[in-house]
Amino acid sequence: MDSETPRARRVLLAKPRGYCAGVDRAVEAVEKALDQYGAPVYVRKQIVHNTHVVKTLEARGAVFVEDTEQVPEGAIVVFSAHGVAPSVHEEAAARGLKTIDATCPLVTKVHNEAKRFAAKDYDILLIGHEGHEEVEGTAGEAPQHIQLVDGLDSVETIEVRDPEKVVWLSQTTLSVDETEETVSRLRGRFPNLIDPPSDDICYATSNRQTAVKEIAAESELVIVVGSANSSNSKRLVEVAKDYGADASYLVDDASFVQEEWLDGVTTVGVTSGASVPEELVDGVLARLADLGFADVHEVESVKESMRFALPHELRRDLRSA
Ligand code: SF4
Repeated sequence: MDSETPRARRVLLAKPRGYCAGVDRAVEAVEKALDQYGAPVYVRKQIVHNTHVVKTLEARGAVFVEDTEQVPEGAIVVFSAHGVAPSVHEEAAARGLKTIDATCPLVTKVHNEAKRFAAKDYDILLIGHEGHEEVEGTAGEAPQHIQLVDGLDSVETIEVRDPEKVVWLSQTTLSVDETEETVSRLRGRFPNLIDPPSDDICYATSNRQTAVKEIAAESELVIVVGSANSSNSKRLVEVAKDYGADASYLVDDASFVQEEWLDGVTTVGVTSGASVPEELVDGVLARLADLGFADVHEVESVKESMRFALPHELRRDLRSA
């Protein structure tokens, strides 16, 4: 190619992207509950952190509430993929609610680790974002034993009872690289810090970060489809910038894509967070095609095949229907 010939405009589409097994299961649980019991089906918190998914389910008769107190006595309530503290189960039982627990099994795994280490009287350092529902749910399993570590600065202020009995756990949707840095800082303070029995950052979070690293290295701009309250989507924006993209933006859908972002750009990377339906990515690709980026190459970094069964209480009712 002549050095004066402009490079063709193209899109690199990350794979894996979008729905993970836990989100797929949670959304299907609400859909099946609506089919099985009829509307309204109450859902505590956003079932997954995506505005479009929530609106679509609302249109079918799901009612999203912040707390079980807002659910009429005896009604059906679905708990979101992010998990809940035991106190929420107790409140629901006290109100006679029929509960369907759509907590992702990989979040439940972290809850179980917290319970196990608390039973052995360990201090548990939970790396995560303050105020995130998942962190509130996990911390609620053992509030006397768990301290939150939110960001590198908070490492310095942690106090433990016995430095020989300290374990770290984490939110499932963190940046893999940042978490490693936080753990290494914690280990500087507590050399005998114990690791979780297996990775708490889930396969979907780490695979989507691996995939975005690959496309970011070759893209001037990376567009991440996802909602502003989605932890794993926000991490994808940060990782894209850390791994070579000049700019990266989080968009809820195609209408958020700004034409000026594409000035001087020849390669646009596109990916989506674990709570994003593929139709939203299709919309962004259509918008990019309108703006001269019709040539799409999918770049597969990791193969995924994870599936989770629906919550058992729902499966039981579906079987007997
Ligand atoms: S991001 Fe990971 S932990 Fe969260 S719902 Fe998906 S699979 Fe489960």
